[in-house]
Amino acid sequence: MSRFWSPLVHELKPYVPGEQPKIANLVKLNTNEHPFGPSPRVIEAIQAELGDNLRLYPDPTGERLRKTLASYHGVAPEQVFLGNGSDEVLAHIFQGLFQHDQPLLFPDISYSFYPVYCGLYGIEARPVPLTESFEIDVADYRQPNGGVIFPNPNAPTGRYLPLTQVEEIVQANPERVVVVDEAYVDFGGQTAIALVNRYDNLLVCQTLSKARSLAGLRVGFAIGHRDLIEALERIKDSFNSYPLDRLALAGAIAAYEDEAYFEQARQAVISERERLASGLAELGFRVLPSKANFVFASHPEHGGQALAQGLREQGIIVRHFAKPRIDPFLRITVGRPDQNDALLNALPALLGR
Ligand code: PMP
Repeated sequence: MSRFWSPLVHELKPYVPGEQPKIANLVKLNTNEHPFGPSPRVIEAIQAELGDNLRLYPDPTGERLRKTLASYHGVAPEQVFLGNGSDEVLAHIFQGLFQHDQPLLFPDISYSFYPVYCGLYGIEARPVPLTESFEIDVADYRQPNGGVIFPNPNAPTGRYLPLTQVEEIVQANPERVVVVDEAYVDFGGQTAIALVNRYDNLLVCQTLSKARSLAGLRVGFAIGHRDLIEALERIKDSFNSYPLDRLALAGAIAAYEDEAYFEQARQAVISERERLASGLAELGFRVLPSKANFVFASHPEHGGQALAQGLREQGIIVRHFAKPRIDPFLRITVGRPDQNDALLNALPALLGR
């Protein structure tokens, strides 16, 4: 606290990212990073960019990457907005595309950055309870609002809402922007980008941090009607003209030019997810069906906090949220096969088996 702080700073409740401990040989299953590295072509592209050109600013519009993403997703480049991670894209969406005098609807259990952005931009947050089985009920999104946002698959539950139901939420709110945060969509979901040319109020947000193995590069994007994209560009150019540096632009383009690597790496995560989920179920865990690169699991006889602590003592880090409804759960990122084995082998002793 300091007398130099603005009133806003006093009020903020910042997001707390999952920890990034600097301990060797840690089995790190706490921040939903990809267990395998990015495509070798990404590394080559970044290395090729390392040189004298770094004295020059990057392309402020990221045109080549926007064209790459546009052709990959079958839209026009003017329908693509780039940001420094999808967190930055989300921040601009909150500031520029939600009605600030009405409450923003999002699931009570979802990405914990949403209420933080509400605080930053003075938007009233209206969390909408998920059902008992942790599902989104589309009927709950037919109430007056200043906008709607939800992750699909949801985080930290991993549960996926079929596209027909996403579409119902979009149709129910023609005068409001509905944002589908698809950070985890490539691990088994279908993208709502297929719908953006039918609905001018639908905006889809994705990231290269998860299925493209590039959390360290900080690249995210949104796709929607060009009027929505123009709003985001107006905010960006009033904030930071160069959110993506030269290395990020080069690496991101290369990531989309190696479809074979992407396909193989995401399939490896999907099959490990299923193995991890059945291993946990065999140990007595309740495991929610996941279409993400993590599973959300609780045990009827052991608390989430105690299990997370017990695993940590064995060098295995998972995420626990000390929050109502989800306190019994662990969110476990799908790791490499040896890491998932380490977790499955450490649990029986903790469970007293
Ligand atoms: N949305 C969701 C649902 C997430 O879990 C995350 C990752 N923490 C993000 C967005 C942001 O990802 P990034 O900024 O790395 O693109």
